[in-house]
Amino acid sequence: MKTIGLIGGMSWESTAQYYRLLNEFTRNRLGGLHSARCVIYSLDFAEIEQLQVQGRWADAGETLAAAARSLEAAGADLVLICTNTMHKVADAVDAAVAIPLLHLADATAHAVRASGLRRVGLLGTAFTMEQDFYRDRLEAAGLEVRIPDAGGRALVHRVIYEELCLGVVREESRTAYQKVIGDLVAAGAEGIILGCTEIELLIGPGDSPVSLFPTARLHAEAAVDAALPGLRNDSPGPGRPQSADESVAASLQCRRAG
Ligand code: GLU
Repeated sequence: MKTIGLIGGMSWESTAQYYRLLNEFTRNRLGGLHSARCVIYSLDFAEIEQLQVQGRWADAGETLAAAARSLEAAGADLVLICTNTMHKVADAVDAAVAIPLLHLADATAHAVRASGLRRVGLLGTAFTMEQDFYRDRLEAAGLEVRIPDAGGRALVHRVIYEELCLGVVREESRTAYQKVIGDLVAAGAEGIILGCTEIELLIGPGDSPVSLFPTARLHAEAAVDAALPGLRNDSPGPGRPQSADESVAASLQCRRAG
């Protein structure tokens, strides 16, 4: 089994979910007491968010690159950036280490293509929805990407930073997101990419009339595929306790109940 390196803390709410998913996918495939070999470098998100707001992407790139080097030194065989937004500095991270960077947009595009869909709506931070670094990568993989209108983008962005990254899940925000998703579907989206790793804490399959692509889950699944080559998700190991879908649903239920 390879060791998975995670650059996390952006926010820790979704990094905690990555940790759970990596372990659940590994246990599902190998059974028994197996769990994921992984190393997490968790950054202080307040510092990263300030760099984002100030447009200091080169500084942010250096910070994440240093984290990647630490993960490599700690024995990681591959590295993940556990946020869509910070893939804006993916090149700096990739250049800093000899181990491969498993790009979140690639894992997501692969899942969309595998489902047979092409035209997708993209929800995420304003950086992810409005700038080129993420959409271009999806489009280069053959997808057609639609984003919400200005009001929808502002709403989606605000809920990420003011609620989800703080562990706050509000019913009225879920309803507002459902409306944004409905508008994207009316505009032709065949599926919706939850292109921020916290959105899947708020939105699940029952909240959308079309397929959802939850990026933290897809990224974690791709990481376990890479860590356990030859043992894909369709070959669960003995003693498989529950599917990843079930566990995400269970965790969503906990959030709703809380
Ligand atoms: N985790 C989020 C994402 O996937 C947003 C937090 C950040 O700005 O990194 O984009």
